[in-house]
Amino acid sequence: MDSPLIIIDPGHGEVDCGCSYGDIYEKNIVLNISLYQLKRFEELGIKAVITRYSDTYLNPDERTKLVTDSKSVYCISNHINAGGGNGCEVIHSIYNDGKLAYEIFNKLLEAGLYPRRIYSKESTQYPEQDYYFMHRNTGSCITNIVEYCFIDNKDDREKLLKNWKLYAEQVVKAFCKYINHPHANNTNHDFY
Ligand SMILES: [Zn+2]
Repeated sequence: MDSPLIIIDPGHGEVDCGCSYGDIYEKNIVLNISLYQLKRFEELGIKAVITRYSDTYLNPDERTKLVTDSKSVYCISNHINAGGGNGCEVIHSIYNDGKLAYEIFNKLLEAGLYPRRIYSKESTQYPEQDYYFMHRNTGSCITNIVEYCFIDNKDDREKLLKNWKLYAEQVVKAFCKYINHPHANNTNHDFY
């Protein structure tokens, strides 16, 4: 059986809630975004898998092992930001050219998210390696971390709750553009 082209990673899970605002939890929003993207990739004929299907906990080693064991060429790790700020960020490996990150960033801006930054970050603890374990410990898989927007920013939060499916779709669209795969819009509005 062929390896998947892409693995989608909903960040956090179970006791690890990620960031939150009231009863809105990052772990749940990114799971919804990821499950949506998984279905869309399947619908578009792109072989995709996911690191978790439900509200379950994965430690960093378990998570990165799922990515490397899948032998996927690409990984998108979905996150929501917090801590004062606004807009979207896409983070690529220090060893990647950032072209896919740029496509994702652009498509999210097209959908109305505020442009914060595209960047990569080297670890100080592990010189010449990535700061984020999703880059550092996923081998040759081309991993991009997508921080859609800030949960503790009112405007971002309202946009996210209203438009999360659109943002999820924009990432699918960006990926299709990047790999030169035809993209057709989702016509099933009841779709997860
Ligand atoms: Zn996160």
